[in-house]
Amino acid sequence: MHGTMIDVACPVCGADATDPYSEENGFLLLRCRGCDLLYVTPRPDPDTTAAAHQYGLHEGDATLAVTGRYRPDRVEPYLRILRDVHGSSLPPTCRRWLDLGCGHGEFLTALRRFAGDDVSLLGLEPNATKAHGCTTRGLDVRSVTLGEVDGSFSAISLLNVFSHLQDPTGFIAECVARLEPGGEFLLETGDTADLAAADHPRPLFLPDHLLFANERIVRRVLTEVGLQVVSVHHYSAASAVPVQVIRECQRALQRRDVPPVLAATRRWVRERRRRIDMYIRARRPD
Ligand SMILES: [Zn+2]
Repeated sequence: MHGTMIDVACPVCGADATDPYSEENGFLLLRCRGCDLLYVTPRPDPDTTAAAHQYGLHEGDATLAVTGRYRPDRVEPYLRILRDVHGSSLPPTCRRWLDLGCGHGEFLTALRRFAGDDVSLLGLEPNATKAHGCTTRGLDVRSVTLGEVDGSFSAISLLNVFSHLQDPTGFIAECVARLEPGGEFLLETGDTADLAAADHPRPLFLPDHLLFANERIVRRVLTEVGLQVVSVHHYSAASAVPVQVIRECQRALQRRDVPPVLAATRRWVRERRRRIDMYIRARRPD
């Protein structure tokens, strides 16, 4: 039912000593004793994972459908993050930006507004439905792998991709090989590997997510592939608008039931306070 399953050692440090952390959807999440990475093993083999990303369906006890939809409300927060990371503008050497795993294209849309028309933008997205949506919104997005695209880039971004990677170090090394000297690298992922299992955001979305890191682990991976970390920026993972709380309120009012509203509000307040979403800016040395 899970396609071909494989056992792996820690994909960051190679150690195979682990402690159990959690389980979900028929998969185990373990914590590496060597580097604290949380990772799934046994896991679907790389071909199964690649096919799952193509169609946005991940098989477990239940099949996860993860295609989602275009979210225009994400563009403004991305613009604020670009200003935090890069100040008022991109470095003048930044002419060609590649966004890997660009999803529905919200970040590319923010980049276009931030960088203007002089920077060429390209997105790669394995999910054909997402890629097609991007092209209908005027973005240059293709459903191919990095190896199928020519040339080098002055910047590469990897947002909400790291947790899905079978081999994070190998994949980012492949990105670095395509960066111009002095090129920019921007990676976003959760900073959650140090949380106790009871405090980790749920659902874990196993096996769509294969690993969860922290700042120390990501810095280690970036350094190993020859990148220099420039800055790290932390944000709340919860939306500023408590959408989930509002929905729970509507449902609870229909039932004349108050406790779920209080619980949902408490969860949202806790999430807003935790800055577990991180953006790491790095650079390939000249
Ligand atoms: Zn490890």
